[in-house]
Amino acid sequence: MTKLFPGATGDWEAVIGLEIHAQVISEAKLFSGAATAYGAEPNSQVSFVCSAQPGMLPVINEECVRQAIRTGLAMGCKINLRSIFDRKNYFYADLPQGYQISQYLDPIVGEGHVAIDLEDGSTKEIGVERLHLEQDAGKSMHDQHPTMTYVDLNRSGVALMEIVSKPDMRTPEEAAAYFKKIRSIVRYAGTCDGNMEQGSMRADVNVSVRRPGEEFGTRTETKNVNSIRYVMQVVESEIRRQIDLIEDGGTVDQETRLFEVATGTTRPMRSKEEAHDYRYFPDPDLLPLEFTQEFVDKLAEDMPELADAKKKRFIADLHITPYNADVLTAEKENADYFETLLAATVEKTGKPVSELGKLVSNWVTSDLFGALKKLGKSIGENPVSIEHAAELLGLQVEGTISGRIARDVFEIMIETGDSPEKIVEDKGLKQMSDTGEIETMIDEILAANADKVEEYRGGKDKLFGFFVGQVMKKTQGKANPQVVNQLLRPKLDG
Ligand code: ADP
Ligand code: MG
Repeated sequence: MTKLFPGATGDWEAVIGLEIHAQVISEAKLFSGAATAYGAEPNSQVSFVCSAQPGMLPVINEECVRQAIRTGLAMGCKINLRSIFDRKNYFYADLPQGYQISQYLDPIVGEGHVAIDLEDGSTKEIGVERLHLEQDAGKSMHDQHPTMTYVDLNRSGVALMEIVSKPDMRTPEEAAAYFKKIRSIVRYAGTCDGNMEQGSMRADVNVSVRRPGEEFGTRTETKNVNSIRYVMQVVESEIRRQIDLIEDGGTVDQETRLFEVATGTTRPMRSKEEAHDYRYFPDPDLLPLEFTQEFVDKLAEDMPELADAKKKRFIADLHITPYNADVLTAEKENADYFETLLAATVEKTGKPVSELGKLVSNWVTSDLFGALKKLGKSIGENPVSIEHAAELLGLQVEGTISGRIARDVFEIMIETGDSPEKIVEDKGLKQMSDTGEIETMIDEILAANADKVEEYRGGKDKLFGFFVGQVMKKTQGKANPQVVNQLLRPKLDG
C-alpha cells in the first residue's frame, strides 16, 4: 500500500525522483592532471583545461572511468562499453569553458536498481535510470569584496557522477532512505567519500503529486540539497505546497526551486520559460569512450565487499543477530571499526572469530554506541582506542572480570582514558574465582541465614537466587557467578 497524503478534496499520492551528484574519489580531475584535494588555497589547483585557456585539450582520466564503472557495478547497473561525452552549453561566471562536458544520450552506466530499507523492516527496489560522468563547475565567492565577485576554480573540472533515479519513490522517508543507500554504496565501493558538508554529495529533488492511479503530475526540481534531513524537508514541503496549490484551483509550474534552510521550504529559482536550452552536442575534442568487457570484469573481481554481502557474512560466519548485522553494516565506518576490533580481540584472546563475533558485536552496538550517543560523538571521534577496547573484551573473555564489571570499567575508561587493565588493578575489580575464599564466604552466609536455609530445604527453591545475591553483595559483584553456583548448590541441597 502506498502512503497517501490527505487534502481538502481527497487523498493524493506523491512521486519523487532524485538526481544525485557524487564527487569521484580521484587524485586528479576528469580531463586534467590538476589536484582535487579539498580545502586548498583558492585557484591553487587549476590547469589550463580547468581555466579553459585557448587551445587546451581535455584528456580523459582513466581512474575516473574506473570509479564510474565500480559505482555502476555496486548498483547492479548495466555498464555501457561505449559512451559519448557531450557539451552542455550555458553561460555562468564560474564555468570558464562556457559549457560543461557531460554525457547525455549515451551515458557510461545504464539501468539498475538498489534496495532501500524501510522503517517497518521491509525493503523496496528503486530503479536507477543511469549514471553519467561530468565536470563540476568553479565557485563564485560573493563575500570577499564589497563590489566584486571572486571566482575559485579549484573545483572546476573535478569529476562528478550524476546518478539519476527513476520516479519510484512515494514518501519523504523513501527519498531519505534512497539517498542514504546511495551514500552507503559509494562509500563502500570507495568511489565517493559521501561528505555532504564539503559538497561531495548533493541531490536535485524532483517532486510531483497526483490522484492515486492517475498519470504523473507536473514536477518541480529543487537544486543542490546537501543533507538527508533537507531532502526530507524538501519533499514534505513540496508535497504540501503542490496539494494546496492544485486544490486552490492553481497548477504546478515545471520549475527549478531552491531550498531555504531557515524556513525548511523551497522558493522558485527559474521557471520552464526561462529554462536553459543547453544545445547538447558531442564534444569534438573527445573520442567516444570505449572499453572491453574484460576491463569491466577485472574491476568487478577486485570490488571490495559491499554492505549487503558483508551483512550476510556477519550473520552466517560470525553468528551475529540480523539486527546487529544491519546496524553494523549500514555505515562503512561502523563495519570497519567492528572488524578491526574483532581482529584485535582475536589476537588478544587466541579465540576464533566465530566465538567472539556475538560478544564484540553486542559490545559495539550497545555499550560503545550508547556511550557515543551520550557524548554526542560519531564513531570517528570515538575516545576509546581499539587497543583498549580489545583489552577490555579480552579481560571479559578470559573471565578476569564479569560482564557487569566490564560495563563499570568501560565508564571509567571513557572518563579517564586509562587502560582497562590498570583500572581493574587499581580498583581491585578482578573477578574472584578462588574456590576456597568463596566457599568460606558461603558458609558464613548460610550460618547467618539459618532460617532461610530451612525454608529452602522445605521446598522454597526460589531462595537460591537470594543466596547468590548475598555472595555477590559481599564481593561487590566480583565473585565468578559460575563458581558461586557450583559451590552453593551442593551445600544448600546437602
Ligand atoms: P531532466 O533531464 O529534464 O531533469 P529526467 O527525465 O532526466 O529529466 O528526470 C529527472 C529526474 O526527475 C529523474 O530522477 C526522474 O525520476 C524524476 N522525475 C521524472 N518525472 C517525474 C515526475 N513526474 N515526478 C517526480 N519526479 C519525476
Ligand atoms: Mg535534471
